[in-house]
Amino acid sequence: MNDTVFKINLVEDEESLASILKAYLEKEGWSVSIFRTGEEAAKYMHNGVHLWILDIMLPGMSGYELIKKIKNNHSEKPVIFISARDQDLDKIIGLEMGSDDYLAKPFLPKELVIRARKLLHRVYGGGIHENLLVISKYKIDVVRRKVFDDEENSIDLTAKEFDVLLFLVENANVAKSRREILEEVWGKDYVGSDRAVDDVVRRIRKKLGRLSLETVYGSGYRVVS
Ligand code: CA
Repeated sequence: MNDTVFKINLVEDEESLASILKAYLEKEGWSVSIFRTGEEAAKYMHNGVHLWILDIMLPGMSGYELIKKIKNNHSEKPVIFISARDQDLDKIIGLEMGSDDYLAKPFLPKELVIRARKLLHRVYGGGIHENLLVISKYKIDVVRRKVFDDEENSIDLTAKEFDVLLFLVENANVAKSRREILEEVWGKDYVGSDRAVDDVVRRIRKKLGRLSLETVYGSGYRVVS
């Protein structure tokens, strides 16, 4: 699995709802494919999907039939059901069939985003971090420890470069001293020179040219968002 961002297959036949949901999910940095029917979606079980969001009432193949196919092929992929039908019944059947979560229509798109985020965290890890941080058009995938530019090109960073970058981005707009950076990234027992931080910062600047990584005189470094 070398996807740059989480990939979501959204199966929803109501076009306006589908495009609203897609827009909300994409704001999280996720990539969303919309399918109008279960038949169409079933052809894309191998498109590197991380999460399925399924409407139950679909023309033709229902969400129930589709989840059966999904579970037969990729039982580990999480599924969120959305439905406007007899809600309690759908919820029970859906959960029994292996869905991981359920949302009754109408719901706020933001709620779906929150549920999806929780589920992605639970299944794919991420701990206390957000999975994806975005700064100056760079995406930092915290789970996979990768950085991408706005054209999805992966930028090669060493472990130290990544850790320093992450620390500064997580503390965006706050100046961090060389000592703080050393303790965070190299550990409290590090006995070498502060220059190690300067070297890493210089390399980060070179690799991430658009990042605003400032030297704060007398204080250290700061990433400006
Ligand atoms: Ca529907």
